[in-house]
Amino acid sequence: MMAYELTGPILADEEPTVGKAWVVGGRVTYERPRHTDITRIDGWVIPGLVDMHCHLSVGPSGPVDGDLVVKQAFTERDAGVLMVRDTGSASSLDVLDGRSDVPKVYRSGRFIARPKRYLKGYAVEIEPDELPAEAARQARASGSWVKIIADWIDRDLGAQADLAPLWSAQQLADAVKAAQAEGGRVTAHTFATESLDALLDARLDCIEHGTGMTDSHMERAAASGTPVVPTLLQIANFASFAAQASERFPVFAERMQRMYERRHEHVTRMWEAGVTLLTGTDAGTSIAHGDLAREASEMARCMPAADVVAGATWKARRFLGGPVLDEGDPADLVVLSGDPRELIGVLMAPTLVMLDGLPVV
Ligand SMILES: [Zn+2]
Repeated sequence: MMAYELTGPILADEEPTVGKAWVVGGRVTYERPRHTDITRIDGWVIPGLVDMHCHLSVGPSGPVDGDLVVKQAFTERDAGVLMVRDTGSASSLDVLDGRSDVPKVYRSGRFIARPKRYLKGYAVEIEPDELPAEAARQARASGSWVKIIADWIDRDLGAQADLAPLWSAQQLADAVKAAQAEGGRVTAHTFATESLDALLDARLDCIEHGTGMTDSHMERAAASGTPVVPTLLQIANFASFAAQASERFPVFAERMQRMYERRHEHVTRMWEAGVTLLTGTDAGTSIAHGDLAREASEMARCMPAADVVAGATWKARRFLGGPVLDEGDPADLVVLSGDPRELIGVLMAPTLVMLDGLPVV
């Protein structure tokens, strides 16, 4: 089997390590191998990128399955995304089982929502009092995460329609407890301010979007170490959601427009408050797969690039419980032409992507 020498700095923690590393048998080692045939790889090395918010079973025209799930996984992989948290599935990801040529995937089972309170045809639609049992069921099915839709527009209110929570605080608290009792972790889609105290009280494990967070929610998330995945590429769509809704749902439209306009400033405030910010694209629907580097560039408008890189690599991996290029870890890595903390754009064009020690790009 081929051996490689990684000559450049390895950025898998706050500071890069500059000691030489090797890849032997698909794994990272910091002990010089005895191989005589060693290929040199020059450049900055980061652990494979992590898309913390990705939907492998959703494509531009809705839910997909089978070969298309695999194809979307390849698109992520070829962009250097070697770990994915699938934040809600519209179909099954079983087609990825046993494959070694796709990113490592942390699943979330099916989206959980109420009838008419999420994108049509994506979620398991239940009544509010069924939430705890459904959360436990999805935790068992995914073996890892559970994704709850915490708020969505309530169109039944007509012209007064606005974002509104789907569940009571008690239902959320019971659901998080039930999922965690199955060994699962829970995250929630939230655009609204009104869901956040209940979510934080429920001690959920992560927050998706978080566009409604006030300063006090940010302080609470920082204190509890609850990360937020801001999905700025998705929030950039809020202006078009607002435009589409402005006639029938003016209250909702105005709120979405406001959140669109302040999106960068809002993420800066989260960073200043000490919230852990992780990088996720919300790929599926209108966001293309393989766009994590573009999300990282958006986030770098709001906070230091070094923190963006951490949230897109080692910090996200540690949070998920994944490997970070320690001795013996799988060689899932990306080689860059320069230090991404100096120039975030280098993430867009990796010079090499290696999965389990095999170059894929
Ligand atoms: Zn999403």
